[in-house]
Amino acid sequence: MILDATRSALRAGSVAEPAPGVGAVLVKVGACALCRTDLHVVDGELDHPNLPLIPGHQIVGAVVAAGSAVETVRVGDRVGIPWLGWTDGTCIYCTTGRENLCDRARFTGYDIDGGYAEYAVADARFCFPVDPSYTDVEAAPLLCAGLIGYRALNAAGDGMRLGLYGFGASAHIVAQVARYQGRRVFAVTRPGDTASQEFAIRMGATWAGGTDETLPEELDAAIIFAPVGALVPLALGAVAKGGIVVCAGIHMSDIPSLSYELLWGERTVRSVANLTRRDGTEFLALAHRVPVHAQVDTLPLAEANTALARLRDGKVQGALVLTIN
Ligand SMILES: [Zn+2]
Ligand SMILES: [Zn+2]
Repeated sequence: MILDATRSALRAGSVAEPAPGVGAVLVKVGACALCRTDLHVVDGELDHPNLPLIPGHQIVGAVVAAGSAVETVRVGDRVGIPWLGWTDGTCIYCTTGRENLCDRARFTGYDIDGGYAEYAVADARFCFPVDPSYTDVEAAPLLCAGLIGYRALNAAGDGMRLGLYGFGASAHIVAQVARYQGRRVFAVTRPGDTASQEFAIRMGATWAGGTDETLPEELDAAIIFAPVGALVPLALGAVAKGGIVVCAGIHMSDIPSLSYELLWGERTVRSVANLTRRDGTEFLALAHRVPVHAQVDTLPLAEANTALARLRDGKVQGALVLTIN
């Protein structure tokens, strides 16, 4: 029923605002991974969700219908639908390789209905092909946990000693890529979270400990995945001179005031916002080479609220994925 309605809407060119319907694809969703951003959206911590809203922005599924102007994918193709759902393509950011910063960007599961659903509509130009070596469930966490993690890893520079603060879905993928690049990984978790620390060691970390412990050596860079502002001065205190601290989340509690001494020595603090399609293409090719294997727990779509609650409790090792269809 939904399918028929959407198909006729596609023909009429009237769905998937702001993407023109003729450029949209209708995707039968196979899997949708959860992201911490979904919690921020559901909890009302982000400013302008398009309510009522279907969350979910790590979608893998099969194209079952395509608008007449779609050129990049065909019916039957398997695609991934990420957070970045549409950009204007004309602004100063879009025309200089920084479409992630587009002021008019629309995001999946925030401005556009997402993947906690049997079907999703997306602008075909923002979908990625999915490597056949991955199942839907395995590929889904790559689309944000992996992709934003990859952008954060690039922002962290080339340093060989990498700290990961918060060892969840994104960090466990970044750790695999960093190890592939020959870097050493130091995982920092909540105090006493031995399960996450053991998980980090299994994922190749050289050292894992709590925020109450002292790292065994200085870091060249740190990526903060946990949405906790107090980790910024902590990470700054852990990086060597010239070190970079990257805040990878879309939302973070206030950063406490810090002494200039912590920033001195050409240390850098920066954020990472969204993704570009280039990030996606690069990362998905790299993930296949590493190869990245996300550790995944699955729940059916009907258990979406249970899945969100598990994510909120921080008891998830790796990624949580909703299985659909
Ligand atoms: Zn733009
Ligand atoms: Zn996300």
